[in-house]
Amino acid sequence: MTTFVHDFTDGNKDLKDLLGGKGANLAEMTLMGLPVPPGFTVTTEACRVYLRTGAMPEGLFTEVEQHLRQMQHRMGKTFGDARDPLLLSVRSGAKFSMPGMMETILDIGLNDASVVGLGRQSADERFAWDSYRRLIQMFGRTVFDVPGDAFEEELAAARSIAGVATDPELDTAHLRNLVDAYKKVFREHVGRDFPQAPHEQLFLAIGAVFRSWNAERAVLYRRQERIPQDLGTAVNVMTMVFGNRGENSGTGVAFTRDPATGRRGVYGDYLRNAQGEDVVAGIRNTVPLAELATIDPTSYRQLLSIMQRLEQRYRDLCDIEFTIENGRLWMLQTRVGKRTPAAAFIIAAQLVDEGTITLDEALQRVTGEQLAQLMFPSFDTTAAPPPLTTGVPASPGAAVGAIVFDSAAAAAATEPVILVRRETNPDDLPGMIAAAGVLTARGGKTSHAAVVARGMGRTCVCGAEELRIDGDSVTVAGRTLHAGDVISIDGTTGRVYPGSVAVRPSAVVRYFEGELRAHGDPLLSAVERLMAHADHRARLDVHANADTAADAARARRFGATGVGLCRTEHMFLGDRRQLVERLILAEDDAARADALQALLPLQRADFEELFAAMDGLPVTVRLIDPPLHEFLPPLEELAARVAHTQALGGDPGHDGALLTAVRRMHEQNPMLGLRGVRLGLVVPGLFAMQVRAIAQAAAARVAAGGDPRPEIMVPLVGAVQELETVRAEAESVLASVPGAPQIRLGTMIEVPRAALTAGQIADVAEFFSFGTNDLTQMTWGFSRDDVEGAFFGRYLELGIFAVSPFESIDRDGVGELVRTAVERGRAVRPDLTVGVCGEHGGDPTSVRFFHDANLDHVSCSPFRVPIARLEAGRAACTVTGSDSR
Ligand code: PEP
Ligand code: MG
Repeated sequence: MTTFVHDFTDGNKDLKDLLGGKGANLAEMTLMGLPVPPGFTVTTEACRVYLRTGAMPEGLFTEVEQHLRQMQHRMGKTFGDARDPLLLSVRSGAKFSMPGMMETILDIGLNDASVVGLGRQSADERFAWDSYRRLIQMFGRTVFDVPGDAFEEELAAARSIAGVATDPELDTAHLRNLVDAYKKVFREHVGRDFPQAPHEQLFLAIGAVFRSWNAERAVLYRRQERIPQDLGTAVNVMTMVFGNRGENSGTGVAFTRDPATGRRGVYGDYLRNAQGEDVVAGIRNTVPLAELATIDPTSYRQLLSIMQRLEQRYRDLCDIEFTIENGRLWMLQTRVGKRTPAAAFIIAAQLVDEGTITLDEALQRVTGEQLAQLMFPSFDTTAAPPPLTTGVPASPGAAVGAIVFDSAAAAAATEPVILVRRETNPDDLPGMIAAAGVLTARGGKTSHAAVVARGMGRTCVCGAEELRIDGDSVTVAGRTLHAGDVISIDGTTGRVYPGSVAVRPSAVVRYFEGELRAHGDPLLSAVERLMAHADHRARLDVHANADTAADAARARRFGATGVGLCRTEHMFLGDRRQLVERLILAEDDAARADALQALLPLQRADFEELFAAMDGLPVTVRLIDPPLHEFLPPLEELAARVAHTQALGGDPGHDGALLTAVRRMHEQNPMLGLRGVRLGLVVPGLFAMQVRAIAQAAAARVAAGGDPRPEIMVPLVGAVQELETVRAEAESVLASVPGAPQIRLGTMIEVPRAALTAGQIADVAEFFSFGTNDLTQMTWGFSRDDVEGAFFGRYLELGIFAVSPFESIDRDGVGELVRTAVERGRAVRPDLTVGVCGEHGGDPTSVRFFHDANLDHVSCSPFRVPIARLEAGRAACTVTGSDSR
């Protein structure tokens, strides 16, 4: 029979699938002999059964009762006992951490009788009644969806009756009355009395935590973080310990290193006389953890030693939650901690230096997404006005935007906005996703805003206490700002500026550009070291998509070892457009040849520069791809111009001829029309001119002592016969150019038919490059120019896919075509070179796929080259990572 409940003494950190992250780590800490309050975990399997069937799995009640009995025995207390009650906390805990997204209920087991017992036993009646009112509130909201405001109104009324400003000032008598008022609220909204039976409370709470897996905000968070929707959450039931039992009690959150900068040394926040939720919610302001050394030196020393042991055990930065009850330290949670991208690189390098992990492991501790974030710009503060205020730098980056004061306004905004809140709660998630940055008045680096913003790479400044937020205005430093006013927030320094501050490039980009040296800078040295190791490990080469010598040179500085795609159509724009017009309007072969002859030297010069920039490295030049009418004026504009001229009695002349051509060439679906290889076969001499330009440019470079390595790539091939025809013509042109080096000819694979007939095509092609933009378009039948704006938002909402297939490769569909083509192509030509040059070539998850699919290289825009290099190295290292999710 399936076991649905595991005691904390029965598990370890590797059982996250079953026990969830929190449960597995509680078991691990119990195993290490750390002071964890006794408890048990209801498994994710039980949750999945509950969500599937709507009922608790059979046998669960009996198992829970058994475990409860053991706990009672160990604690020498009885659950909900009227004289000295054992009380429980019930917390969610999924495999991947989802901060604040699901539910927690504390003080389960309190009722009208045990509240008196708790007061007597703890010699603190006030504390007992405060705990009871918290339970009714939390339970009502979580289990029965009683609106939080209904309780808040009663709380505010109690404060006003008592004539006090804050909750801790409410005395026992007022709290008793508040409990009565809360019970009334409960009855009114739920239609029954607040349950007095402790066991009923417990089972209802477990069900509510299960259901919270499917809360809207939790679903949204998982979609954002790409966490599968079907995992379910475990539920941790733990003996309550109290941080709110006076001045020698308290609660805190700590990190074994600074999660924002990676600096060595413990880091955290402590809140005296408070329950854990108060810290995470950021409602009250905390003191730095170091102050605990003076408040309670014994607990502080014990905590430091535990933190050291946890780092050794997990071999990574850990974050923890702890409570001190009457001078006794309890560990409530630990996990591998989230960190900023800079901290991720710095800590990975530190752990290598400390001999804790290998370089291979260090590579698994950083990601391409993190590197991408480090390549964001920051503020140029030399030009900035004095800051309005400084808050806690919670998530780095530089964000400029108009102020909005609520999540809905942020989500609805069309311009960049900064979400300004006193503090955030999980309901603010849509606004946090939509905003360029988040600014809060309350809470530290471990507040909800900070944790969530860091997780999603959003710039965040929190705890800017000088902000006075009042409805739709905020006052700071004597200035009042309104919704719509622009501010700039610096998540690296915590500074908040009025207006729009200029931004400057990232240090990491400047390092890649060769403008900064890594030596002496902890972040740049860590990046340098890990990139070098990634290059050493990688099996995939990283090329760049670059159309100009300048782009190619930058790509080379960023570590590209070739140009995987030079789109030649960009060489037909600007002044040269009129030459293309001449080509299109040519009425006979001679006129066409003239136009092509005029284009030839221009193309040749472009290629010469490009080959010089990439001397010694392969440069794949793609013959012209888009429909030719893209080089002509739009039909409506031209028609209007011609009509206007005619109306004035004039002769439209050149415009008239152009209009006729545009009408002749008009296509309903140009992306599926006369483009790519089809164009080369239909317009005589066009491809030949390009091939000649490539060959002549290469010959000129050779003559100048260079080492050009051009390759010619044919776009949009669907049938081998197309390629054979182009190849025959190209070979004869190449043979006619003296001094040209050997030039390989290959094809893009971007039409599904090409992927399926790759065996035939490989007979003629010396290399393949997957054009996954078109391949995705044609496999899904999605117009790549339209669908993302039109309906992908809805598709993402519905979970039809978690990420746009134009952004990250669709492994099951497009990916299957890639695998098929590689297999069929290499079966015919074992030394076939295979790469990818669609947008996916620079997407971290897709790079891993291309590694697995045995490609030779990925090619991406120059700025993404370092990201692809890092991911190529990570994909080639098989050691397991340290999953901080
Ligand atoms: C592609 O289709 O993936 C590709 C690289 O070509 P383009 O984006 O120019 O169509
Ligand atoms: Mg394409």
